[in-house]
Amino acid sequence: MSKREHLKNKRRVVIKIGSSSLVHQETGRLNFPKMEILVREVADLHNKGVSVVLVSSGAIAVGKAAMGITEVHSVQAKQACAAIGQVRLLSIYQKFFAEYGLNSAQILMTKDTFTDTESRRHARNTFEQLLAMGVIPIVNENDTISTAEIEFGDNDRLSAVVAALIGADLLLLMSDIDGLYSDDPRTCKDAKFIPVVEKLDETFMNMGKGSTGSRFGSGGMNTKLIAADIATSAGCDMIIANASDFHIIHKLVEGREFGTIFLANPKEEFYLLDYLEKI
Ligand code: GLU
Repeated sequence: MSKREHLKNKRRVVIKIGSSSLVHQETGRLNFPKMEILVREVADLHNKGVSVVLVSSGAIAVGKAAMGITEVHSVQAKQACAAIGQVRLLSIYQKFFAEYGLNSAQILMTKDTFTDTESRRHARNTFEQLLAMGVIPIVNENDTISTAEIEFGDNDRLSAVVAALIGADLLLLMSDIDGLYSDDPRTCKDAKFIPVVEKLDETFMNMGKGSTGSRFGSGGMNTKLIAADIATSAGCDMIIANASDFHIIHKLVEGREFGTIFLANPKEEFYLLDYLEKI
């Protein structure tokens, strides 16, 4: 019996899209055909009756490309690029979703949104309202105002915290890697692919140590494993899969064997704030 049979019954799915999966590697500019396939997949999932939340990176990458900048070093320049890029990114998502008759909405968050009880409650209510209205919420970190103290810094962990907040039953981390390997496959040829993680223990957690993100994103395997710890402890299955072709989304939700699945392992005493302290 496949460990993925139950994925067909998921009702609330968070999909995280990394920057590197949205832009052309050569130029850093948006890859429109890819975005179109992503939006079509999400729209179809929605039409099947699944509530979908997108957590999309790309603000900084799109802002940089818009300004013709290849490298940004200062925090201010990154925040300025995020401000420029976020509005462009969302206007394109909005246009693509509208082609499928769907409304989308922007939600920008920082760590504070979750640590402050009132903000957390309001954020959860807004998600619930949007999903009830059949709207696709598109989340990103509020990079423009984030400071070191309140930032997630990567959308891997942010997407897991969002999944926990709204009680999602599946989190898809779409990235430029196939899934979890026993070692870094770029440097170690004996690295073994791990299709299923039933219980995320120290051995697995150590597999991500020292990994870094791609040229366009900031999360590496380490942040993905922390995301898996948060999501699975909150009772949500998580899959890391390669976003080179977004058609993979419907295949994953059909339960087909792609990527690495981390099976939910709900902790009775799960308390979101304990996890936020470690981020
Ligand atoms: N919030 C950042 C952006 O939109 C991306 C963070 C990440 O790479 O995970 O550019």
